[in-house]
Amino acid sequence: MSPRIICYGGVGEIGGNKFILEDRGVKVILDFGTGFSDGSDYYDTGISPRGVNGAGDLFEFDLLPQIPGLYSEAALQNTRVKYAEPEFDAVVLSHYHSDHTGRIAYIDPKIPVYCGETTSLIHEAYSESTGSPLKGHPIKRFRTGDKFTIGPMEFHPVHVDHSIPGAYGFVIHTSGGAMAYTGDFRFHGPAGSMTRDFVAAARDERPRLLLTEGTRVSPGDDSSNMSETAVRKEALKMVSGAKALVFSTFRGNDVDRVNTFFDACQATGRRLVVSMKVAVLLEKLKSDKRLRVPRVGKDVDVYLRRKKTGKFDDSDYYTWERPFVGKGLTAKDIRRKQGEVFLHLEAWNFPELIDIRPDRGGTYIHAATEAFNEEGEREEVLIRNWVEHVGFTYAQLHASGHAPAGEVGKLVEGVAAKKVVPIHTEHPEMFSQFDRKRSWVLEAPTKGVPISFGA
Ligand SMILES: [Zn+2]
Ligand SMILES: [Zn+2]
Repeated sequence: MSPRIICYGGVGEIGGNKFILEDRGVKVILDFGTGFSDGSDYYDTGISPRGVNGAGDLFEFDLLPQIPGLYSEAALQNTRVKYAEPEFDAVVLSHYHSDHTGRIAYIDPKIPVYCGETTSLIHEAYSESTGSPLKGHPIKRFRTGDKFTIGPMEFHPVHVDHSIPGAYGFVIHTSGGAMAYTGDFRFHGPAGSMTRDFVAAARDERPRLLLTEGTRVSPGDDSSNMSETAVRKEALKMVSGAKALVFSTFRGNDVDRVNTFFDACQATGRRLVVSMKVAVLLEKLKSDKRLRVPRVGKDVDVYLRRKKTGKFDDSDYYTWERPFVGKGLTAKDIRRKQGEVFLHLEAWNFPELIDIRPDRGGTYIHAATEAFNEEGEREEVLIRNWVEHVGFTYAQLHASGHAPAGEVGKLVEGVAAKKVVPIHTEHPEMFSQFDRKRSWVLEAPTKGVPISFGA
């Protein structure tokens, strides 16, 4: 039988990537993430799947495929699916975003997870702080240039540029020829050349199938594309023009963005202050010699939230937080130094502003993606209300983690596969616009329906 790929997530949706690659009876999972709108008809921030019911509360609404030999005993204990020994040889992970990792928590921990070295460090940092879905799985690490085999398949991981360090695409040799999987990518970040390396490596193997993301292949995407370099320029302008406190919401694991603001702070004599969770991550990533990461304590400070007694007692904090107690900056400290501080503050932490009581006239930078669904729009309204409440100006400043449509088209053309399967996009049909030479077949995936490739 030809090798085949079965898509269970990332089908007509952005994120939620869940693929099975099968070759000669050997089965591998490629990413196993949470969809951004998974079950939003039934669950939201107020109603969530119960942890105690394992996969059961997700099976109920078909949010996880009911596949034998995949899930852990714990995940299946209250469900009608019977536990069976693993029928899968590995989970191969492209990068550490929850829309690619989130559902690994339900997978049998006997199944090893293959991931990049940087991803394994991010996993270690989150295991120490708020938890990681990879917990309990044997971890097998790779770097670009490595090759690893799983049954008849040989995997060649190749780095790509994305909004988290340690992102990979894969060129996979199967018994029926090569296939390529992009993971998530862009060309306009500081490491855009890495994505070009992936395109060249994939093209060289003449893949029969290309599984590619198309987040921004959508009628709504404007072709304007801000690069991280442009974000750096703007950030410097905003921070140097600021008279009072600057605070900003951005993803703490987007190390490019951390560096962008750290550099703006260096140039303007401000101190970047991050959350404890981000501090743990930065400390862990220090051991990756290929990454540039600001040093906690030396380059950046840590924000110390009041918890429990409100008196900053060691016992108020989790063990992983305790090293920062006594060293961190409290709301009072921030208030005292407000003109010298750039505070990283996630939206869920905005009530800290009540303690900080910053002077009016400061600057807020929303350095995250603009709202793309109802939930996001609701959050944006709340953020704007808080910013207005403290009398700050609101600025939007962001470079996407994903390539705009035209550049996805160039990747598809560059890889030159025989068959193209668009995933991680709401508009797979729009990929037909890239097929100017009629040299490949477009196959929009259907959930659970195998796509064969090979001779
Ligand atoms: Zn993604
Ligand atoms: Zn991603």
